[in-house]
Amino acid sequence: MAISTCAKCNGHHFELALLTPVGETRKLTLVQCSACGMAVGVLDPSIGPQIEALKGQVAAIDQKLARIAGALQEMG
Ligand SMILES: [Zn+2]
Repeated sequence: MAISTCAKCNGHHFELALLTPVGETRKLTLVQCSACGMAVGVLDPSIGPQIEALKGQVAAIDQKLARIAGALQEMG
């Protein structure tokens, strides 16, 4: 895997920092260069629960598909 490099100082070490955008109440998790503080990315903590909900929906679809496959086998 390639090593991430800071575009500003060519550093290779990054850290997570909490950031509250102006006018916002919820915090975002920022990925920044640990040497110069250059922001390289942001993680939205609200995505986590959404992914968990999607996982549940996929599991439900999977169960329905298995049931349909079982019914088809009985017909054949
Ligand atoms: Zn840097």
